[in-house]
Amino acid sequence: MADTKMLSFTHVEQAYPARREAEARAADFAEITPGYLLAKAEEQASRCSQCGVPFCQVHCPLQNHIPDWLKLAAEGRLQEAYELSNATSTMPEICGRICPQDRLCEGNCVIEQSGHGAVTIGSVEKFITDTAWKEGWVQPLLPLADRSGQSVGIIGAGPAGLTAAEYLRVQGYEVHVYDRHDRAGGLLTYGIPGFKLEKPVVMRRIARLEAGGIHFHLNTDVGRDIAFADLRARHDAVVIATGVYRARQTGLPGADLPGVVKALDYLIASNRAGFGDVPPDTEQGQLSAAGKQVVVVGGGDTAMDCVRTAVRQGAQSVTCLYRRDRQNMPGSAREVLNAEEEGVRFEWLAAPTAFVAEAGRVASVAAQRMRLGHADVSGRRSPEPEADSRFDLPADLVIEALGFDAEDLPTAFAAPDLAVTRWGTVKADAGSYATSLAGVFAAGDIVRGASLVVWAIREGRDLSAAVHAWLQAAVARDDRAREAA
Ligand SMILES: Cc1cc2nc3c(=O)[nH]c(=O)nc-3n(C[C@H](O)[C@H](O)[C@H](O)COP(=O)(O)OP(=O)(O)OC[C@H]3O[C@@H](n4cnc5c(N)ncnc54)[C@H](O)[C@@H]3O)c2cc1C
Ligand code: SF4
Repeated sequence: MADTKMLSFTHVEQAYPARREAEARAADFAEITPGYLLAKAEEQASRCSQCGVPFCQVHCPLQNHIPDWLKLAAEGRLQEAYELSNATSTMPEICGRICPQDRLCEGNCVIEQSGHGAVTIGSVEKFITDTAWKEGWVQPLLPLADRSGQSVGIIGAGPAGLTAAEYLRVQGYEVHVYDRHDRAGGLLTYGIPGFKLEKPVVMRRIARLEAGGIHFHLNTDVGRDIAFADLRARHDAVVIATGVYRARQTGLPGADLPGVVKALDYLIASNRAGFGDVPPDTEQGQLSAAGKQVVVVGGGDTAMDCVRTAVRQGAQSVTCLYRRDRQNMPGSAREVLNAEEEGVRFEWLAAPTAFVAEAGRVASVAAQRMRLGHADVSGRRSPEPEADSRFDLPADLVIEALGFDAEDLPTAFAAPDLAVTRWGTVKADAGSYATSLAGVFAAGDIVRGASLVVWAIREGRDLSAAVHAWLQAAVARDDRAREAA
């Protein structure tokens, strides 16, 4: 292949797809960037310098063949670009939309380091696979063999579970996915809002898996609707990919008042509304920000999703309260900028001390100013209260967005021998993904703690290879036993 098209970063400026105007995008839940047109995608892909050591690929958890598919895209060979990108990822168009590329591939792109501005890898990735869907290049699942005599039960239909399901089905196993929600997708469906990831993009992936013969058992809470022991008896191997859902809470006075809600409850209700679901009577209006003065406590990406959702629901005002400063917040700088443009007010170096009631529900947040003190063991500077710095914020909806821990799975699954870490995450061997229970494997957030979609895909991919090897070894063992008998 001639390299004439590449290295254009010397004369072609970095250009992300235009974002819609803040006012327009704050009025709906559609994605904020419509994406590239063909010529722009080709042009931006051609900025890649085809590095001998591609740091973009090194820093991609999936080790995607980024320079190779950028080159193919620059040459207009989009179908080949799609096939290569699809070879390492089960959902490239989803990663293209929601990966924090500024911390992964693009943040490590060599031309970014040399001051030219990174290749817009995520936007090109999204363009390639969206085009593949449009053009009909996305193939149905084609099992390589018939191994339906062995079955795998997967608990959790998030990106880790779905990825494992896809690869194991392609190996020919009978695959059953159990999820307590009524739709598959995990946080792709019910956590991440539509303005980052439109839901039809997730649903078409799930439809493809269903059409490929994967059995989905929705509305099935393992541990409540079906015993974990029964799943182990029913399947040759079981995969735990349940994510982390125990919300961290402030525990402050007034935290149990009506009007103080958990981030995920709020986001799930909003995503359900996007699907047209009618909320139960108990929830009517409780989990909507329409017309309210909203305060979101927290500074991570979940907090950013909450503030931006509240804007779109028609909140009267939206304030984010975070105890560190802008430079030290865990959420992505890109999301903060989007939120600010959409009208969110940030109170940096500020923490709540209590939620105050009026007429039986929350009416304001008592808060105080903070300053950054010495670094703690993690190296981050700890926030400390400023003396005499109390202030109040009016609030009729407070959303606590402080992160998530693992649920107590050994208890929920009545499986006391399932080994967990001191954080409650499942202990799984780094190479084999095996847990302490024979034939039970685990991957995704329930092993890593709250992380990223791309890591869930990577672990689902590697786990499927490990489970395949384990199931093959089981067949070989049975064959030997039969021969010996
Ligand atoms: C609000 C929010 C926004 C995020 N935004 C981003 C982002 O922009 N980019 C990014 O890369 N990452 C983001 N993340 C993180 C990302 O969504 C997770 O890292 C990823 O989804 C983890 O995948 P998983 O498959 O391990 O778990 P999950 O996606 O959590 O899926 C687990 C599934 O298991 C099911 N389940 C749990 N327990 C049971 C049970 N007992 N029985 C049956 N089913 C069960 C759940 O219903 C769920 O469907 C975000 C997270 C949140 C909360
Ligand atoms: S690091 Fe940047 S310039 Fe180098 S191969 Fe990757 S995308 Fe291309």
